[in-house]
Amino acid sequence: MKFIGAHVSASGGVEAAPVNASEIGANAFALFTKNQRQWVARPLTEESIRVFKENCGKLGFDSRYILPHDSYLINLGHPEEEGLQKSRAAFLDEMQRCEQLGLKLLNFHPGSHLNKISVEECLDKVAESINLILGKTHDVVAVIENTAGQGSNVGNEFWQLGHIIDRVDDKSRVGVCLDTCHTYTAGYDIVNEYDKVFEEFDAAVGFGYLRGIHLNDSKKALGSRVDRHDSIGKGLIGMDFFRRFMQDVRFDGIPIILETPDESLWAEEIKLLRSFVSSD
Ligand SMILES: [Zn+2]
Ligand SMILES: [Zn+2]
Repeated sequence: MKFIGAHVSASGGVEAAPVNASEIGANAFALFTKNQRQWVARPLTEESIRVFKENCGKLGFDSRYILPHDSYLINLGHPEEEGLQKSRAAFLDEMQRCEQLGLKLLNFHPGSHLNKISVEECLDKVAESINLILGKTHDVVAVIENTAGQGSNVGNEFWQLGHIIDRVDDKSRVGVCLDTCHTYTAGYDIVNEYDKVFEEFDAAVGFGYLRGIHLNDSKKALGSRVDRHDSIGKGLIGMDFFRRFMQDVRFDGIPIILETPDESLWAEEIKLLRSFVSSD
């Protein structure tokens, strides 16, 4: 079965997210558990935690299909000590917020080398950061998202995700999230070489590590390394890919999250995507 939703707003408090997700007919969702553009946030209140859990229960959202996203400021592969420490502290806080909310996954962009260290050194730092933080938390899985490879971002090639996972001690608490727009603009032709791309992913990372999907069309070309999402079927990836994706059982049982730019279309997009799966 497919679990589909969108990255919904949590303004007014995390407890608003399941309500917003329910309104668009979702059975999965993503959220920020704090303001994604600030380093430090006020702790979650007891009341907020209680109502979040209550809303998830009432509206039928299982923590396996909720994929929180960390702050954009965090760089777990930061080349400089100060930035690295600051990022690790902020990521630990995000992990702990997830634990308080009873969530099991935390999605993040691996990091950036900022042209100061090599890609491998940056990936090694990301893995070291994950190991440190997993050691201080209990059961949240660190879910690495592949990137478009914009600027000095790492994580655009599948082998890089595998490189990080290889160096994480507790393999049960690391996974990946594939963003279809990032995959495409990173240079993987999911439109014309669907089978080949996912075979390559399976060989370099493994479907066993796949914990989530960001389902987005792309405004930018294959291999452009530019990250600009488009609404489903309106960009360069196109509807045929999404139809095939929805019929592919390898993507069953994980959160599939829309990060498409027009929120007013989310309910329709979810409905349309579901219509592609005859058995659901
Ligand atoms: Zn994404
Ligand atoms: Zn993106």
